[in-house]
Amino acid sequence: MATPSVHHRESFRGFNPAAGRPTAPTYHAATTGEVASAGESAWTAFRAGTRDNQRAAFLESIASNLDRDADAILAVAREETALPEARLRGELARTTHTLRMFASLLRDGSWVEAVIDRGDPSRTPLPKPDLRRMLVPLGPVAVFGASNFPLAYGVAGGDTASALAAGCPVLVKGHSAHPGTGEAIAARISEAVHAHALPRGLFQYLPAGGARDLTVGEELVTHPRVRAVGFTGSVAGGKALVRLANARAEPIPVFAEMGSVNPVFVLPAAIAARGTAIAQFLAASATASGGQMCTCPGLIFVPEPADAFVQALREAFASMPPVIMLTPRIAQSYRRRLADVAGAPGAWVLAGDPRVGTDSTGPVIASPVLAVVNLREFLAAGTLREECFGPSTIVVRCTNADEFLEAAALLEGSLTATVHADADDHARACGLLAALADRAGRLIVNGVPTGVEVAGAMVHSGPFPACSRPDSTAVGPWAIRRWCRPVCFQNTPQALLPEALHDANPLGIVRVEDGRVVLPAR
Ligand code: NAP
Repeated sequence: MATPSVHHRESFRGFNPAAGRPTAPTYHAATTGEVASAGESAWTAFRAGTRDNQRAAFLESIASNLDRDADAILAVAREETALPEARLRGELARTTHTLRMFASLLRDGSWVEAVIDRGDPSRTPLPKPDLRRMLVPLGPVAVFGASNFPLAYGVAGGDTASALAAGCPVLVKGHSAHPGTGEAIAARISEAVHAHALPRGLFQYLPAGGARDLTVGEELVTHPRVRAVGFTGSVAGGKALVRLANARAEPIPVFAEMGSVNPVFVLPAAIAARGTAIAQFLAASATASGGQMCTCPGLIFVPEPADAFVQALREAFASMPPVIMLTPRIAQSYRRRLADVAGAPGAWVLAGDPRVGTDSTGPVIASPVLAVVNLREFLAAGTLREECFGPSTIVVRCTNADEFLEAAALLEGSLTATVHADADDHARACGLLAALADRAGRLIVNGVPTGVEVAGAMVHSGPFPACSRPDSTAVGPWAIRRWCRPVCFQNTPQALLPEALHDANPLGIVRVEDGRVVLPAR
């Protein structure tokens, strides 16, 4: 078979999951040659550098452009995802909020985490050097968004916003599930690049689809100019990119946000006092946006007696019609996972039909499904512990709440873990939360895991497989930290130091005085 030329242009189309057919426009995947030169342009832009206030204004312009053209962008996103208008509008608002949040972080200046640790020439036996540390950008970043958040984890999503804020040029690999949405957003970012007379290589969008759906991404991850990768998507995809990045001559970090089961534990006093209400909240959370959210609760642990709770969940699931799934691939893998769950020894389906939908033509539908299993069988069947991405949840019946600790210790890493506890549960809840802190990045008490606030203390990460780098977060201002590394300047004269490390810098600098850390005054 002939090798395709580096200029081979693969064409492909989007897909309308509600109609079950391709969308009208034809898109063209980036060629091998285009990926190669995009990496070089990104490097040129990185070497040229940008100032914090320039990037702040740039991020604000992107947000304004997206707000201005919201209706046009949402019309395409709606066709390509079948997500409800209100959901997409909320997601766009979150996207522009994130862009503006990073702009204000840049204006504040403290993001570089400057530390001035003064020297002491008179120290004996050896003089102490003057040491000054700050964060610097890593270099060009390749960004892969997920299908289920076409905006907030898409082309202008949190990874792009935080990497641009850090001063890293961004190369976005377009998602094959929403090429029109990706293109529409990329055009608004490029418009801002142009308006601020920034280097063209600061932001580049590389469409991918057809026979090049995976290769564009692989070429990006292996491009010698790319210094880091941000990924949101499946465990298989994230692991493949981590492997690829580690196999490079110069391995690079991959911040991959992947799958999560988001376990929920309902303690005895809580289930007795408000079990029905909790069941209804959890049913809504597990099926929100067709259950296609990374934080949907996939496992619910309950102590006996739990019949009323299970019955309320069953009624909620049984009343739900089939949902439209984002893509045929997600619907197919959901059905496959449901077949595994239904076939696991001791598990049975209480509501919904795992077989709803077809792998061939027509609207991409699937059924909300509730399954139930006893703890012993759950622990014996490894497959029940893995994410089942779609509108489903599994209730795990435990003999009593003492068994919760055993279950918690054996769970996979998750983005979140939730505990429902009333005052009489607090002694147990305390130990359970401590165990769950080892398994999840965010712990929720008396709430639902869906709904991720973009805020300073947010952690959107967790032990594998939730994330390949549990020492980071993909949401909130701290997400910028992923695209930076610390550099220490030793005995460097003021005239040669970056401004952030000057003695006179009024911004938020941590100083070390007489060995004590002095935090900046606020
Ligand atoms: P996906 O199939 O893994 O795709 C994500 C992106 O990675 C796409 O652009 C895809 O390319 C690319 N990709 C996947 N495997 C690849 C490989 N081997 N080589 C090169 N590129 C590859 O995931 P998805 O269906 O879009 O998203 C759903 C999943 O994302 C769910 O599992 C969900 O839990 C997870 N998710 C996690 C979070 C979080 O924050 N933890 C947030 C949202 C979603 P193509 O599209 O071109 O194939």
